[in-house]
Amino acid sequence: MADPLQLAILPGDGIGLEITQPSVDLVQKALMACGEPEAYMVWLEAGANAYVKLGEALPQATIDGCRAADAILLAAMGDPDIRYPDGTEIIAQIDLRFELDLYAGVRPARSVAGVAGPLADPRANALDFVVIRESTEGLFASLGKGMREEGEARDTQVITRKGTQRVCDFAFRLAQQRKAQGKRGQVMSVDKANVFVSMAFWRDVFDDVASRHPDIEKRHGYVDAIAMEMVRRPWEFDVMVTENMYGDILSDLAAGLIGGLGMAPSADIGDDHAVFQPCHGSAPDIAGTGKANPTAMFLSAAMMLEWLAQEKGVEAYAQAGKLMTDAIDDAFRDGTLVSTERGGDAGVEAITQAVNAALDRRIG
Ligand code: ATP
Repeated sequence: MADPLQLAILPGDGIGLEITQPSVDLVQKALMACGEPEAYMVWLEAGANAYVKLGEALPQATIDGCRAADAILLAAMGDPDIRYPDGTEIIAQIDLRFELDLYAGVRPARSVAGVAGPLADPRANALDFVVIRESTEGLFASLGKGMREEGEARDTQVITRKGTQRVCDFAFRLAQQRKAQGKRGQVMSVDKANVFVSMAFWRDVFDDVASRHPDIEKRHGYVDAIAMEMVRRPWEFDVMVTENMYGDILSDLAAGLIGGLGMAPSADIGDDHAVFQPCHGSAPDIAGTGKANPTAMFLSAAMMLEWLAQEKGVEAYAQAGKLMTDAIDDAFRDGTLVSTERGGDAGVEAITQAVNAALDRRIG
């Protein structure tokens, strides 16, 4: 039995406040079922609510708490009605990515059994690919530095060798791990190397990294063509790696293919820290109604346990993560549990109950 994990919990805003506790409860139950002690949960404030209450969206105490934790579980942040004096929205989750240098945005698109995507081809209901989004530079490097003048505005894209190398390396290592599990073993650079100097540079760095991973198949694609292929033949992808903005867009497209944002988990991983959070935002339009689908948050928590297993070399964490993922699949498998975003009536409570019941059945 390992020492108890210390997890930073950031519920944030909107539906984040509704989906966090059920996720924490599931993590504790899964850990204990695998013979591990309950984790020590450190609840921290950040986001729009924190800004109103404390005058800061990402207080230093929260950053310190995140740095001290073994992993960080974040729900959702932001509220269009609460803004900085310059009118911009609060995006503390992105500030945290820069603060902790979380350069690899991992956005898996894995179909959950019983949750059909929008495509007719049955192969589109058994998807398993990952979009890796570079998360510290690209067009987002311009955050807070954009220039606006009379009749003109500019944001600048920044692509560095260091930033590209490390995220491409991450993608190839992930493809290796996946290949060992029987998956394709392929990485595709998604770029626009035919048009932008910054993207041609990205592709050169990608090729350089690829040459050090000869066991993994290398592919290139232009972002516009790949957006179309993701809709036409999404089952052909394995690992895709791309710059920040393209990744932002393509990961939402990927979420759409597996049943919507409520089903799409994600992780932002750096060399020293990692944040796990659903792909969706705070969904202010449904906050407080109980309609939110907590599955993406549950799956993100499961990813967290799997990452912790690798980091700490504790196999029981991977078992706990798999137990959660399997329970989610069990809950949806017969197709009767349909979330509100997909036209059903299951919200936080019904989905939480169904996943807990499935987990209890697996624990026996
Ligand atoms: P952000 O920019 O912070 O990612 P956003 O404005 O793009 O946020 P979301 O907050 O993710 O958007 O919401 C987009 C739409 O998806 C909204 O209509 C919202 O209600 C819906 N949605 C998002 N997450 C969920 C969820 N977990 N369950 C149900 N519906 C959701």
